[in-house]
Amino acid sequence: MSQEFTMQTDAEGVATITWDTPGKSMNVMSIEGFQQLDALIDAALVDEAVKGIVLTSGKAGSFAGGMDLNVIAKMREDGGDDPAKSIFEGIMQIHTILRKIERAGMDDKNKGGKPIACVLPGTALGIGFEIPLACHRIFAADNAKAKIGLPEIMVGIFPGAGGTTRLSRKLGAMAASPFLLEGKLVDPKKAKSAGLIDEVCEDPLAAAQAWVLAANPADIIKPWDAKGYKMPGGAPYHPAGFMTFVGASAMVHGKTKGVYPAAKAMLSAVYEGALVPFDTALTIEARWFTNVLLNPSSSAMIRSLFINKEALEKGANRPDVPDQKVKKVGVLGAGMMGAGITLVSAMAGIEVVLLDQSLEAAEKGKAYTASYMDKGIARKKATAEKKEAALSLITATDDYARLSGCDLIVEAVFEDPKVKAEVTRKVLEHVGEDCIFATNTSTLPITELAKASNSPEQFIGIHFFSPVEKMMLVEIIKGKETGTRAVAKALDFVRQIRKTPIVVNDARFFYANRCIIPYINEGIRMVAEGVEPALIENAAKLVGMPLGPLQLVDETSIDLGVKIAKATRAAMGDAYPDGAVDEVVFWMADEGRLGRKANAGFYDYDEKGKRQLLWEGLAAKYPVAEAQPSLIEVQHRLLFVQVLEAVRALEEGVLEDIREGDVGAILGWGFAPWSGGPFSWLDILGSAYAAERCDQLTAAYGDRFACPDLLREMGDEGEGFYERFTAPQDAAA
Ligand code: NAD
Repeated sequence: MSQEFTMQTDAEGVATITWDTPGKSMNVMSIEGFQQLDALIDAALVDEAVKGIVLTSGKAGSFAGGMDLNVIAKMREDGGDDPAKSIFEGIMQIHTILRKIERAGMDDKNKGGKPIACVLPGTALGIGFEIPLACHRIFAADNAKAKIGLPEIMVGIFPGAGGTTRLSRKLGAMAASPFLLEGKLVDPKKAKSAGLIDEVCEDPLAAAQAWVLAANPADIIKPWDAKGYKMPGGAPYHPAGFMTFVGASAMVHGKTKGVYPAAKAMLSAVYEGALVPFDTALTIEARWFTNVLLNPSSSAMIRSLFINKEALEKGANRPDVPDQKVKKVGVLGAGMMGAGITLVSAMAGIEVVLLDQSLEAAEKGKAYTASYMDKGIARKKATAEKKEAALSLITATDDYARLSGCDLIVEAVFEDPKVKAEVTRKVLEHVGEDCIFATNTSTLPITELAKASNSPEQFIGIHFFSPVEKMMLVEIIKGKETGTRAVAKALDFVRQIRKTPIVVNDARFFYANRCIIPYINEGIRMVAEGVEPALIENAAKLVGMPLGPLQLVDETSIDLGVKIAKATRAAMGDAYPDGAVDEVVFWMADEGRLGRKANAGFYDYDEKGKRQLLWEGLAAKYPVAEAQPSLIEVQHRLLFVQVLEAVRALEEGVLEDIREGDVGAILGWGFAPWSGGPFSWLDILGSAYAAERCDQLTAAYGDRFACPDLLREMGDEGEGFYERFTAPQDAAA
């Protein structure tokens, strides 16, 4: 058993328990960890020489990063046929340990309680903040980089080790809601002003040790354990509290559309818990937590948004070649994408040469970084020094000679193969032989573009999404001849700018656009069929898509749709399947309804550009049919067109790893995050049912829903994607 916790008692009677997970940069809580902490607390409580206890971390910049997810997997496994029972019991054991800390021997009338303080040298997340919440006083170091909070909701669960109950009782439901419902994280100073922690100081360990010696008995009684406790802001039966919960319930439902089980379960735990004594509230919290952990959506979200996202960021699919960290990047084209790529590179401390056709255009691209930083300064998220540091790394130029010394080029000029080929050739005259050349094209085949280079093994696609500074996914595309060093370079660059990469092979629209275009097209196709546009849009949102297909096409613009349709038709000839879609799109373009940028599209917009209702004029051309499909039918059409494209991408070898398919879908185009991604969604449905649904949809709407052979075979064998394509440890969440 590895030693996670150690205890030392000084001459004055302060027992300092230090948490130091071996081999990890940040502490994570394991089953052994809980057992050791429990045993040390027991020992300290019975030891007459101990007057007070201080819990701290052996890691310099952090207290703890959270729970080792194997804890939950183990609880589930131990349950055999009855995982709910063993998960519930496991959670109740954690409650017992934390409650012991909170009560600190107070229940033993002969002895009285001992003060327990917690010291946060830095970051304290998840269970790493739930443990401090059970202590009597929390001291944090003045460490502006530290993040404190309960981010569980972001990965589809909620704080289930008492954090939900304790924080809502400490702050009141309203004040706790940004931390519980949005997973808001704050630095120590903000944590203090929000009431999450008690003190921020230079030497929190010394302050905590002094405090436990000086504490009064009253200091160690939590408000909810004192007589007459009232929930701040009012409990549900109080008129003010009642209004809070009515509002919160509406807000949660408005935001989650009812598809995220964790948010609803957490709100129920807070509401029901507020009506009963504290210990009963913990039991209620444990029941809801068990319910959420057993929901397939939560497991899929944890797997994609936490485990696999992190694995990809750490280089799960990186070829085994030496470090390729980028020192100096050349960005070609200072338009929308080039300016964004420059900004994120400079913010990561990379030297950037930004080149455009004129110095003026290049300077304009550089100015984007300045205005972005100015906005950050106004919101106190950046400083003048940071702005200067970023700007000092950027050289705006129209002179190719300035690119000399760049070890990576990212090309983001016009989407025209001739222009791209010309700049590629010019660049290669000025950079060293080792330089990797990447293109940010969204539609042109990488293998074709690589022909302009005399070393196609050093040519690759690095496809950013817009806006670059906000979108977390970067799609790396290997051309036929792309070599491993180019892949490693792209991955190391993406890691430097702190984004999440997926690596795919070269094919029309790569992966993300290949799946999202059919979604838009299916929505437009339904308009032509007479499906009520509001039904299409709401069906999409109610199944967890961030934007309905018609809103999405308004955002990306109708003329881009026209351009893509024409190019695809030219490339595919008779096999082109989307004539019905084009009819609507071309007509919208003729009507001048080009989308948000024209203040007119499938939606109306006011003069300030604010989106209004769906455009009524659409019905004159495409009347709404009398018989309307069911909500689920519309939702299945919208989801199946996307996920079948993902399965085809896997079958064709465009995708090499389903983890990338799932993570890429959520981060790249917002595919219903509650599902864990397209492959996770199909696993939740079950392959056999999914194949059957394909047959029904094909019979009703056509071959685009034809069941891929792979899915059919898996359906026949009763196999899931995560069972078939990943190692057992990656399949379980
Ligand atoms: P943009 O029109 O905003 O910018 C292109 C820039 O390239 C302009 O500043 C232009 O002056 C410059 N340029 C053109 N020819 C040049 C040359 N010969 N030498 C130097 N500079 C030249 O376009 P954008 O939206 O930034 O897109 C750029 C690339 O990124 C395209 O390949 C596009 O397909 C791709 N892309 C765009 C998006 C998006 O959402 N806009 C998303 C992903 C990828």
